[in-house]
Amino acid sequence: MIEELRKFIIEEYISKNREIDAEFYVGIVNIYSKYNGIEGWISKIKFEEINPEECTEGEYRPSKHEIAFDYMSIDDTAGDIAALLGSKLNEEEQVWIQYLHTARVILHELAHVKQRKNCIVKSIDDIKDNRERVVTEVNPYFRSNIEYSSELFGEEEALLKIKEWNDELEERYGYDVVMERDAEIESAIIINSILKDYQDKVPSVAKFFNACLYSSIEMGYEYVNDRIVSPVHKRAEIMKKKNFINGNIKWYDVDLDKSLAESINAVPSAAERLRCGLPVTPEEYLKFKRKLCEFNRDGYVVMVYREEDKEENIEQKDQID
Ligand SMILES: [Zn+2]
Repeated sequence: MIEELRKFIIEEYISKNREIDAEFYVGIVNIYSKYNGIEGWISKIKFEEINPEECTEGEYRPSKHEIAFDYMSIDDTAGDIAALLGSKLNEEEQVWIQYLHTARVILHELAHVKQRKNCIVKSIDDIKDNRERVVTEVNPYFRSNIEYSSELFGEEEALLKIKEWNDELEERYGYDVVMERDAEIESAIIINSILKDYQDKVPSVAKFFNACLYSSIEMGYEYVNDRIVSPVHKRAEIMKKKNFINGNIKWYDVDLDKSLAESINAVPSAAERLRCGLPVTPEEYLKFKRKLCEFNRDGYVVMVYREEDKEENIEQKDQID
């Protein structure tokens, strides 16, 4: 997938100075869909103003099988990023930021489509990809979704439950600490892979997207009283409180130390645990954080304030067209 995306974005667009058009969006959607088994999950791609007050760049509407993009908002954000990076970028790099930021927004929404696919697959054996297996098997959010949708409630009811968790998470933390960070990380990893052989050509662009990956991984982790509270822990707490998990999560406990021990057991690699939002030790966290601080010190962590895109479509708020 990476090679195909690289060819498409860099060779077909950037190198040819081809302006970002609808085909750019459709092309990325098609390539990602083909490799992630979500063909048929999106029946429409829309271009429209989504939520100008919150500068929402993209939105996935699962009940309508559509994704929408606000290309004005995406352009503005790319422009803001380039402005914030300032003189670190040469003229060529400013152009690259425009294309790659747009690609990242598209990939972020597509990651949400894949999450949904993973939520309603019939059994965990249906998931072939190794990383997806790790994310789903160890992550109470996905795990419970699978169990809810396939065994307990059926898809519609499961989606309502998911919405309840999401609402509480957003109320408490401002965003969905598991789903949003997963989409942010997934999209950043893909862009970084595409840029692998271009470190010398566009070094500041490569460094910026690497910093994006580190910032995304940090999402949802908190250092409290010498211990690290992980994103998955936060979600598990809410799910337990609401009685949604009822023993479905066999190895996970709301006790921080117990969860840490169990999660190290289930996923020994600290990098993989950070990727999934699982518990890490303070040492593991600080090692990761040092790298993020380096990016910050060098001015590559530029936060363009962007409200998390909402997925309120379970409520069918939007008009059907
Ligand atoms: Zn999102």
